[in-house]
Amino acid sequence: MGILAGRFAPSPTGPLHMGSLLAATASYLDARARGGQWLLRIDDIDTYRCIPGATEQILQTLEAHGLWWDGSVQYQSENLAEYQAALDLLAQRNDIFYCNCSRRSLAAKGAYPGKCRGNQQPLEDAAIRIRVAAAIVEFTDLLQGQQIERLAESVGDFIIRRRDGLIAYQLATAIDDGNPRISHVVRGSDLLGNTARQLYLMQQLNLATPVYAHIPTLNGADGRKLSKQNHAPAVADDQALENLLTAFGYLGLHPPTQSPHWDITSLLDWGCEHWSLEQLQGQTSVCVD
Ligand code: GLU
Repeated sequence: MGILAGRFAPSPTGPLHMGSLLAATASYLDARARGGQWLLRIDDIDTYRCIPGATEQILQTLEAHGLWWDGSVQYQSENLAEYQAALDLLAQRNDIFYCNCSRRSLAAKGAYPGKCRGNQQPLEDAAIRIRVAAAIVEFTDLLQGQQIERLAESVGDFIIRRRDGLIAYQLATAIDDGNPRISHVVRGSDLLGNTARQLYLMQQLNLATPVYAHIPTLNGADGRKLSKQNHAPAVADDQALENLLTAFGYLGLHPPTQSPHWDITSLLDWGCEHWSLEQLQGQTSVCVD
């Protein structure tokens, strides 16, 4: 058997809320249940969205919940040279082009219409898109089943470096998750729609591809995913045991309530022993009230 590892990759845009703690717990239990490592990556390239102090707060919350990661924390902001090398490689192969289409001109157009495909030379104030061949991306999500996406029809040539010069989420994530150290990506189902693009980039860059499991997101009473934008409250570090029990419940894990007297360590150990993807099959969201 090869190396096994899962990862949790929060963006430091605020403290963890219950939805993000759920993703952390699920990926932790999944990795540990497989006897694998659990890696932590901070997705901090989008400097406009990063909030000072959020990384420290996230690390503290994970520690308070006994979710200890292996090795040192990876920061996407420290991996820019690797992203640039991938851009250079794609440029050498004429697989990218510069695009200055305004967002408005593309609105409601569906897949990118290919207008700037001829712009091989660097342009000021332009995004970089990858040319998407008429390929079908196919993968089997451990929870959401078989996925087939005709990328050229669904999104078309997509952005891998933003107009403001920042590396796009799709490229950074594809490169980092394409590290052969990562065998399993367990994350919220809201990210399922990005996976085909990330797999496509991994294939274009000859990277390893992980197995995916997209777990249910937590939705508020209004049906919207809990997020920082809709003011989901931060999880309280001094209620770690209760928070973990709540997360377990959403993951279909129901530890016996009487004895033993749970503490964080014994609860997480119990979770690893009883971890199964079975009860989450096909579920994309859970409503919290
Ligand atoms: N950093 C992304 C987020 O917090 C998640 C990335 C991922 O799991 O692929 O939404």
